[in-house]
Amino acid sequence: MKAIRVHQFGGPEVLQLEEVREPKPGLTQVLIRARAIGVNPVETYLRSGSNPKLPLPYTPGTDAAGEVIERGAAVHDIAVGARVYTSDTVSGSYGEWVLCEATDAHHLPDKITFAQGAAMNIPYATAYRALFQRGQAIPGETVLIHGASGGVGTAAIQLARAAGLRIIATAGSTPGRALAQELGAHHVIDHHSPDAAAQVQKLAPQGVNIILEMLANVNLGQDLTLLARHGRVIVIGSRGKVEIDAREAMKRDADIRGIMLFLATPEEKAAIHAALGAGLENGSLRPVISREIPLAQAAEAHRLIMAGGAAGKIVLTP
Ligand code: NAP
Repeated sequence: MKAIRVHQFGGPEVLQLEEVREPKPGLTQVLIRARAIGVNPVETYLRSGSNPKLPLPYTPGTDAAGEVIERGAAVHDIAVGARVYTSDTVSGSYGEWVLCEATDAHHLPDKITFAQGAAMNIPYATAYRALFQRGQAIPGETVLIHGASGGVGTAAIQLARAAGLRIIATAGSTPGRALAQELGAHHVIDHHSPDAAAQVQKLAPQGVNIILEMLANVNLGQDLTLLARHGRVIVIGSRGKVEIDAREAMKRDADIRGIMLFLATPEEKAAIHAALGAGLENGSLRPVISREIPLAQAAEAHRLIMAGGAAGKIVLTP
C-alpha cells in the first residue's frame, strides 16, 4: 500500500509518498480502507519538528474515514464493511490503509460522505470539548468564535447553533465570512478589521460569555476586555507568546482555560463521540469540505492549510 512518510523534520516537501507494508490488525484493532483523510494544522507542526522526540520515519495523521476491511479476533461490535471515521490511529492516517484500535473507529451514517467523515475527529471533537467540556456552555449564552472559517470554527458554529447559543463569528476572508453566515452564525465580523473589537462590544454590550480562540497569541489580550462577568476564554490555538492585562480577567471573575484534545480522558472522549454521532444522525452536524486533494499531493495540502483564508476543511483522497 502507499502512504506518506516523513524521514526528517522540515518543510512540506519532506512528505513523501512511498510503498509500505500493509498493517495487520491486532486483537483489539481494525484495519480500514481509507477513502478520505483529514488534514489538520497539528500535522504541520509535527512535520516541522515541534516534537523532536517523535520517532522517524513516521506516517502523519489521526483522522480518516473509510470501510473496515479486517478486524482483530476480540472485536465484535464493528463489522467488516462498516463505514467508520477514526479518532486516532496506530499507523498514522495519511495512507491507503489505516490501522486503529476498535475504540477509535466510530460509526459513519450513510448520509455522511467519507470526506465529511475525515473532517470529524480533530475539528469536531475539539469544538465540542471547547464548548461543553471546558467552556461549560449554557443554552442562551453568547459565544464569540474567533476564527470560525476553518475546521474547528465551522464545527463550533454547528455545535453551538444546535445547542441554542447566540453566535458571533469571525473570519478573515469574504468566502470564510459567507460560510460562517450560511452555517448559522447570528453575526459575522472580519477579524482583520481594526474595529472588530468595537463591533463585538456593540453586539454584546454586557460582554460575551465564551470565546473560542483560534489565535490567542494575537487576540488574548483583547479577548479579556470582551468578556461578560464570569466569562471564559477557551484557548484552542496559539502560535506564539502574548501579553495580557490580568486585571481585565480580575474585573470580570473571568477564566482563561486552555484545551488540548489529546488530554481528554477515555470517558470524555467516549462522551464526545457519542454526542458527535448523535449530531450526524439528526442532521445538525454537516462537515464542510473546502478542498479534496490527492494523497500524493499532501505537501500542497500542508501549504494550503497554513496559508489562511480558510472556508471549511481540507481532506486528502488516497
Ligand atoms: P484551520 O482550518 O487552518 O483554520 C484556522 C482558523 O484560524 C481560520 O478560521 C482562520 O481564519 C483563523 N484565524 C486566522 N487569523 C486569525 C485571527 N487573527 N484571529 C482569529 N482567528 C484567526 O485550523 P483549525 O483546524 O480550525 O484549527 C484552528 C487552530 O486551533 C489551529 O491553530 C490549530 O493548531 C488549533 N487546534 C488546537 C487543538 C487543541 O487540541 N488545542 C485542536 C485542533 C486545532 P481566516 O482563515 O478566515 O483568517
